[in-house]
Amino acid sequence: MQTVDVVIIGAGHNALVCAAYLLKAGYTVLLLEKNSIPGGGATTEERMPQEAAGFKFNPCAIDHIFIHLGPIVQELELNKYGLEYLFCDPTIFCPHPDGRYYLAHRSVEKTCAEIQRYSPSDAKQYAEFIDFWQRVTNVLIPVFNAPPKSLLDVSGNFDLGKLKDLFSLIGPPDKVLDFIRTLFSSAKDLVEGYFEEEFVKAPLARLAAEMSMPPSQKTSGIGGIMAAMRHNPGVARPKGGTGALTQALLNLVKSLGGVVLTDQQVDKVLVDNNRAVGVRVKDKTEYRANRGVISSIDAKRLFLHLMDASDVDAADPNLCDRLEKRIVDNNESILKIDCALSEAPRFEHHNHKDEYLLGSVLIADSVDHVEVAHTDCQLGKIPDENPSMFLAVPTMLDPSMAPDGKHTLWIEFFAPYQIKGAEGTGLKGTGWTDELKHKVAERVLNKLADYAPNLKNSIIARNVESPAELAERVGFLKGNYYHLDMTFDQMVFFRPLPELANYTTPIEGLFLTGAGTHPGGAISGMPGRNCAHVFLHKQHPVQETLADAGKFFKSTAQSILNIQ
Ligand SMILES: Cc1cc2nc3c(=O)[nH]c(=O)nc-3n(C[C@H](O)[C@H](O)[C@H](O)COP(=O)(O)OP(=O)(O)OC[C@H]3O[C@@H](n4cnc5c(N)ncnc54)[C@H](O)[C@@H]3O)c2cc1C
Repeated sequence: MQTVDVVIIGAGHNALVCAAYLLKAGYTVLLLEKNSIPGGGATTEERMPQEAAGFKFNPCAIDHIFIHLGPIVQELELNKYGLEYLFCDPTIFCPHPDGRYYLAHRSVEKTCAEIQRYSPSDAKQYAEFIDFWQRVTNVLIPVFNAPPKSLLDVSGNFDLGKLKDLFSLIGPPDKVLDFIRTLFSSAKDLVEGYFEEEFVKAPLARLAAEMSMPPSQKTSGIGGIMAAMRHNPGVARPKGGTGALTQALLNLVKSLGGVVLTDQQVDKVLVDNNRAVGVRVKDKTEYRANRGVISSIDAKRLFLHLMDASDVDAADPNLCDRLEKRIVDNNESILKIDCALSEAPRFEHHNHKDEYLLGSVLIADSVDHVEVAHTDCQLGKIPDENPSMFLAVPTMLDPSMAPDGKHTLWIEFFAPYQIKGAEGTGLKGTGWTDELKHKVAERVLNKLADYAPNLKNSIIARNVESPAELAERVGFLKGNYYHLDMTFDQMVFFRPLPELANYTTPIEGLFLTGAGTHPGGAISGMPGRNCAHVFLHKQHPVQETLADAGKFFKSTAQSILNIQ
């Protein structure tokens, strides 16, 4: 039996980030990954080695934004371990059915100039919209980069610039109340309030809905940050694909003595006297942990699927029931289409320029179009009558991902995990079959071909993954790509539940990280870094509190000196 200080369940990017910080602090770490390659939602693979050899695909994440809101890349010096980021510019292209289009550059001014060609008033409003949500983002950065219940850590992350942004958003009571009202509003309310033209409203609603909510849902207005962040810090992709981030983290973890074992599905967390002491994998091998077990899979999977109910009940008799009933899932997942192409799509009706394809492309004809794309999923319906989608041609920015002159196409189409009326049929009883997923993919590609007529003849091979298959492959519960919905009621100190929100659990030595913890899904590494911080704090409370206090006083002193 192997014994280490810490065993981590899963080897997605958050688990690897967490491991790196623990290894740097001198602990021995073992990561156990169920799949044959590490990375989870952050891999790059040759998905069709027979039909399309040499074409590399990102089966899940492609655009990295949140990771640039924190210090991880610099602190872990990931460039030394092979990571190179390529920034997209332009960042978003959204063709409108009437021939106009939204083209966002990294520069707000250049974007306004694009909008100005069709609507001077919306161009002016756009600058205001982005300025507001950039200030909100700046205020959120310190919160994202600290455990949610640690006031000292959060305040230590505020520097002068962020304090200025905070005070610009609040002020007299009416201003504070108006700001709170904005946070309660929906993305639809927000874009309707700011803009006149659908060709601007639709893409902004589509970006806001990336938080996994329909734009009409109250509190989805916070999704305004999704457009603002594409200007600053910007959108980047690792050279060679998202898997290059995982590879850099693996290089670092291994160089520090960390061990990553693949094809090791954890099926039980071992608890002794209310303390997590190790795990058991599918083939019954046990791994012991002296200091703790960290789960990078979400709380529902951990407590309800990998633990004896008696162990959980002994620690908190209400927890299983609360996990079942309080954590909601809106049934939204993704049908993923990857294609190998002989040539890149051409947006003939929109004065095609290759630069449109350097970032991502949205097919979002109107706010209502985006609304249906999300509400249908919640109702168990497939929104494929008139598909809305998010796509990219990754090889335009990084030609190394396909043979010379060839391209790849990445399409994300929101689809329900459980199809209503098809319960008990198809894969895992979800209703998804091979025939159905290909039928839906055909409709999605047909819609895209309305905009890019050369598409259909350029497809060399395609791989379609249904929500049920995605759930099986990465282990996402009900195909939820953020582990849990990113709705307001499940964020910050509510994620996943108030009693589990600071990366700790009622079982001693058992910690939670990953997308199902604060600040949530996406490629950020923040849950991993924050969890490592809490773990280290538990080992040396006095030392770590003094270090946090030092950081807090340093940032306060810097702010005061800068003011003077
Ligand atoms: C199609 C798609 C597109 C996306 N696009 C983007 C994007 O462009 N930008 C972005 O920021 N985010 C995107 N996301 C979301 C992002 O990929 C995830 O939120 C992120 O990868 C979560 O990382 P994680 O490390 O927390 O968890 P995961 O990546 O889920 O890692 C958890 C790991 O645990 C393993 N595991 C599960 N169960 C067990 C077990 N019992 N034993 C051992 N190992 C286990 C899994 O195999 C996995 O490797 C996308 C997701 C999908 C599905």
